[in-house]
Amino acid sequence: MVCIVPAISLYYEVMTLQTELTELKGVGPAVAAKFAVLGLRSVGDLIDYYPRRYEDYSTLTPIVGLQPGQVTIKAVIKQATGRYVRRGMHVTEAVASDASGSVRLIWFNQPYRATALKRDQEYYISGSFELSHQRLSIMNPSVELVSDFPVNTARILPVYRETKGFTSRQIRAALLQAMPVIAILPETLPLWLVRQHGFISRSAALMAMHFPDSPADLAEARRRLGFEEVFVLTLAALRNKYELQVEQAPAVPFKESVAKDFVKHLPFALTHAQRKVCWRIFQDMQQTRPMNRLVEGDVGSGKTVVAAMAAVMVLHDGHSVALMAPTELLARQHAETLVKLLAPLGFGGQVGLLVGGMKPAQKRAAHEHIAAGDIRFIVGTHALIQDTVDMSRLELVIIDEQHRFGVGQRKTLQAKAGHMPHVLSLTATPIPRSLALTLYGELDISVLDVKPPGRTEILTKIASPNSRPQLYAQIESELAAGRQMFVVCPLITESNAMPAVSAEEMYDRLSKKDFKQRHVGLLHGKMKPADKNDIMQQFIDRKLDILVSTTVIEVGVDVPNASIMLIEGAERFGLAQIHQLRGRVGRGTDQGYCYLMMSDSTAPGRRLRALESSTDGFKLAELDLQIRGPGAIYGTMQHGELDLRVASLTDSKLIASARAAAQEFIDKDEDLIQYPYLKTQVAQLSAVTNLN
Ligand code: ADP
Ligand code: MG
Repeated sequence: MVCIVPAISLYYEVMTLQTELTELKGVGPAVAAKFAVLGLRSVGDLIDYYPRRYEDYSTLTPIVGLQPGQVTIKAVIKQATGRYVRRGMHVTEAVASDASGSVRLIWFNQPYRATALKRDQEYYISGSFELSHQRLSIMNPSVELVSDFPVNTARILPVYRETKGFTSRQIRAALLQAMPVIAILPETLPLWLVRQHGFISRSAALMAMHFPDSPADLAEARRRLGFEEVFVLTLAALRNKYELQVEQAPAVPFKESVAKDFVKHLPFALTHAQRKVCWRIFQDMQQTRPMNRLVEGDVGSGKTVVAAMAAVMVLHDGHSVALMAPTELLARQHAETLVKLLAPLGFGGQVGLLVGGMKPAQKRAAHEHIAAGDIRFIVGTHALIQDTVDMSRLELVIIDEQHRFGVGQRKTLQAKAGHMPHVLSLTATPIPRSLALTLYGELDISVLDVKPPGRTEILTKIASPNSRPQLYAQIESELAAGRQMFVVCPLITESNAMPAVSAEEMYDRLSKKDFKQRHVGLLHGKMKPADKNDIMQQFIDRKLDILVSTTVIEVGVDVPNASIMLIEGAERFGLAQIHQLRGRVGRGTDQGYCYLMMSDSTAPGRRLRALESSTDGFKLAELDLQIRGPGAIYGTMQHGELDLRVASLTDSKLIASARAAAQEFIDKDEDLIQYPYLKTQVAQLSAVTNLN
């Protein structure tokens, strides 16, 4: 691209990426404060602030040929006058002329305009040509002297995310001053890669993002920057993978008789998918390279049995297993389930719970049993990692309902056990293949894509507040038939910041009014663990008909008799999250219902309608990816951490080529030291994607 660096650059020879924005012309404390709201403090931040979209004002039209719409002209200002038409309303009128004719320009409430415009000088004028008081005029146009470097007219204009009282024009003005810095930005990708793909330089790409000369120019910039995003992400994942592969894990021999014995004692036949996944796990564990497998399976696909079967092989080998659940509640449930599954093989007594909510004496006993080797299947939460528990026999770690296990956590266990254990992660969040390949490049992934037979599909219905009476009548008939209901609210307590119904408020309404004939319980994250367990146990024991809660019940909780899920303020939840929530019902043989209650009677959005029509977790996850970006699925991340701003994860060609490049980079055994920018990016992404 042709890059015209304006003469202004001479004044800013010392400007760098670190230069504070307040050093720029026109950025006083007030403007700086507005920049800061957008997270922009330095010139580097500003350059990194990509436009959200562009408006094309690049085509110049002779005045005589103007058509209503967005227009740009090159014309001389002949006259300009300002006046107040009514109280508080100021109008500036000017006449602009080119060789073909004249046109009226109008500005509202910009009283400085008339004096600021230089007569008889040529301007670029961009704005909307439309009817005003029976005459076509260019309304509120941007004007810039042709002799200046135009940033607000006569080009493809970047439009940035703005804040109140702070416009793209101010960002463009600041960027114009930062141009000399953009012009000398160093290359960040290896040169062989730039050549191989025919990329423009990083400097040219960023120049084009902010000051594109043509749509083609912009497309080239996006191609390069999008590639770089996926390349760095994949590189981080692949490096993690290789780092792990040099570690040693104890091989767990596969005994067919043990597997057969386990299957024989199950109250059901394994699905084909379950058998396939177990087989892969056994193969992994026979290696001395640590297993790092993620099993993705929709809620209810039967992941626990798979985990139990893997555990049995390790227990049979005389070693230990640890299972970590996201909450104590789930840990307790898992312990109960596992005792039942393993009892027929004689391992039931070796399952032991170790959670924070236990009494000191209980904990001490658990520690002793673990040290003595009587408990070899430790079930707890992630706190197990910090616990002083004896891990010397640990060969397998199972992580439930988490995408992956952090490198840091793994290292801690390695230090405790004296070796690297095999790791099996289970998740009910279906991750689309494109995202998985990029984000989870270091994981082996298995999918439980078939549900156990005999399940009825959950019926999902969107409901509006005015249909509450009918809905409650319907629910009452289900409750009368002995079923139970979960009610999920977006908040614990009422808040002015978010006008949504809180769990406490809902509990009051249901227990005192709408369902006062029923037993209603309240469960939320701020309660003491013991109280939570108590309420949950009451619900499991059917002493409660209705459990009002927040999303604490999201993961794993298994209450087969609960057949109704009512989600309040449903529009506030993510698609994947609701899908998880509704997986809590319809786990028994009864028809499951999920009601998505809207906060008001506005039309439901695309996400909610998708939930109504599909129960396919993978399809929904793909859709969530399209609507909300990868951060939505990769739920643990803060916004902006996984920063795919240019690349689209649905672009499979881009992903394939960036992955191939990352692999090539690793195969070439290049040292990241040579690429300081890549090095920081990779380090940052490793931390994010590895939950370090
Ligand atoms: P999730 O994948 O959500 O963790 P679970 O492991 O809790 O699912 O399994 C859900 C239910 O399905 C459990 O009650 C479990 O006993 C049952 N189940 C698992 N596998 C099968 C199967 N092959 N056939 C029938 N029921 C199964
Ligand atoms: Mg589960």
